[in-house]
Amino acid sequence: MPSPTEEVRAVWTSDQGSMAQQTAVTRWPKIVEGTVDDIDETAASSDKEKRAERAAMRIALQEIMHEIERNEPLKPLREDGVPGIGDFNKQLNGIGSCSWLDCPWLFAECYLYRRIQTIFNASKNWQGYDVFKRRKDSTFVTSRAAVEELASREEAQRLLFIEMTEIALWGNATDLSLLSHLSMEDLQDLQGQDAIQKNQKNIVDNDTDAVWAYLQCTPSPVDRHVDIVLDNAGFELFTDLIYAAYLLDSQIATSVQLHTKQFPWFVSDVVLTDVDSLFEHLGSAKCFPDREYLDRLVPRLRKFFECGAISTTSEPFWTTPYSFHEMPNRAPALFDQLQSSYLVIFKGDLNYRKLTKDGLWPYTTSFRETLGPLGKSRMKILALRTNKSDTCVGVESQVKVDALNAEAPGGAWVRNGRYAVISFHEGHC
Ligand SMILES: [Mg+2]
Repeated sequence: MPSPTEEVRAVWTSDQGSMAQQTAVTRWPKIVEGTVDDIDETAASSDKEKRAERAAMRIALQEIMHEIERNEPLKPLREDGVPGIGDFNKQLNGIGSCSWLDCPWLFAECYLYRRIQTIFNASKNWQGYDVFKRRKDSTFVTSRAAVEELASREEAQRLLFIEMTEIALWGNATDLSLLSHLSMEDLQDLQGQDAIQKNQKNIVDNDTDAVWAYLQCTPSPVDRHVDIVLDNAGFELFTDLIYAAYLLDSQIATSVQLHTKQFPWFVSDVVLTDVDSLFEHLGSAKCFPDREYLDRLVPRLRKFFECGAISTTSEPFWTTPYSFHEMPNRAPALFDQLQSSYLVIFKGDLNYRKLTKDGLWPYTTSFRETLGPLGKSRMKILALRTNKSDTCVGVESQVKVDALNAEAPGGAWVRNGRYAVISFHEGHC
């Protein structure tokens, strides 16, 4: 592992025993296979043209699967009429010769989703199609008990900031691209109040007190705009909306902007239509028969959108392969905008990997140090992330790292989704 002063090395899919390697070998082919099944299912009830075009798309998707399985080189992406391809190819060029199972993980995983998207972008009849929607929807419906429970708590509420923050944090445990090996029972175990209390000791870097102190500091600005850079649709998005509503109700925030992805990404990430889809599900007595609290909560949430207190945006930067160290150069307007935000909340594993450059930092490296230029900026960054990859920083001491290694050997505490971080950087004024 590098000393913190050296340039950090990113995780590669060829790193033996890494989460990166496991993902590339076992998860990626499965995810692509799922897209083939999905278009087959959709085509079965579609018109002739859509069905006809499906055959070629199937081949293109299977080609990706075979390339991964045969560990073929990553090819430059073909132009598909949508901006962003150039950035991918430039970065691919910069990496030099690399193949699916021997390349920087962060880049290759972003490349995979952009590559899948080229097939849909280049089609005639499948424009705007979300190939992961079916999976997102079905997972959300299995969260029924937790949704109904949270609706009731929100109603009873004025819950503590800590509790609300942790609900948003553990909502991140539901991530389709990362937890495809868990059963529905496992997923339900990760949700709900008992789980949250039990898991508190598993927050390996917990800056909640520092965030709370920052939010309490006077004089607080009149305009307290909070940004939430979302991760997953479904249950996590539901917890994020509850969190946004709490921040507004408690007057911690005066407005909240939700950042969604521009196109389907990492299977379960939120695209704009997932927000509508969430409201459809929450409004449906078939999905959620226990309406007592939901019928009060849902109109309140809708109102926040209608009056603009909660808004949405989809920045193209979130679906590039760049780490956030490159935000000042690659997305200067976004960088400026987020620097003037009262608080920027980054949800989930991918955002965390991008914040830390997917680097193999020593676990005790300070969160600030791993943020690169963002750590030297005015941006107030709160990362809420359950640990599901190879990178984790901000652990207070080597003694704690040793204890974690003893408790969850083989780096399991960095990867298995049962440990988490609430990491905060207050920014420089
Ligand atoms: Mg995700």
